[in-house]
Amino acid sequence: MKLNLRIPLLAALLGAAAYVGYKLAEDPGNQLWGRTVVAGPADQREVALTFDDGPNPPYTDSILDVLRDEHVRATFFVVGRAVAANPATVRRIVREGHALGNHTWDHPHMLVLSRAAMRVQLHRTDDAIFAAAGVRTKLMRPPFGARDFAVIDEAKAEGYQVVMWSVPLPKDWEMPGDATIASRVVDNVGDGSIIVLHDGNRGLHCGRPPLPAPHECDRSQDVAATRRIVETLRSRGFRFVTIPQLLADSARDAARHTVARSTR
Ligand SMILES: [Zn+2]
Repeated sequence: MKLNLRIPLLAALLGAAAYVGYKLAEDPGNQLWGRTVVAGPADQREVALTFDDGPNPPYTDSILDVLRDEHVRATFFVVGRAVAANPATVRRIVREGHALGNHTWDHPHMLVLSRAAMRVQLHRTDDAIFAAAGVRTKLMRPPFGARDFAVIDEAKAEGYQVVMWSVPLPKDWEMPGDATIASRVVDNVGDGSIIVLHDGNRGLHCGRPPLPAPHECDRSQDVAATRRIVETLRSRGFRFVTIPQLLADSARDAARHTVARSTR
């Protein structure tokens, strides 16, 4: 009897260990696997809006309309296959002053990829972005936020800065309503926060047959939530920056602190 219990107990322990490991791989803040960008300067009233998984017309365009009306610049972590399908939207993102990030070619779980396969995911997307808009980005965000030492090391070897986030994901993909999405975000924002919303769904080709279920592509709640978030945070005195601006402000901040320390 005792012996028979050992196996399920061992299995449960292994399962628990795997679960903890997996949670750590997706936890946006942990620096266990290598340094990532999680937030900006903690003493500046600025916040970065980021949009993942597009471009996904017409929702990406609607978000761009909101951002233009509000004079806000954001960062779009685009999926390569969606870039190739919607190059005009990528050109508009760049033309209107927003930043781009690489969110891989087809949104795989990078933990299960070989180093060579990771490289292909990054290169194909980089080429698609360049073909669409004539620019390259050195920012990347792993799909699902899932990363380990190999993912971060490979991204860095390719010259990328890995960008995570600090505001817990508002689960906008569950479509809880734009007011709920917005309150989940603004209730958790502080100085230097990085926010994640979704203008697409894993880079699915939503405009082309065979069409996936409608809700899989519908990001109208993110469009409305974006307006609410911008209005609320602006009324609280926040300024909106792209990730490159946020990084520049962080670097300036660090330099200032270093100077302050060395002249003390
Ligand atoms: Zn994603």
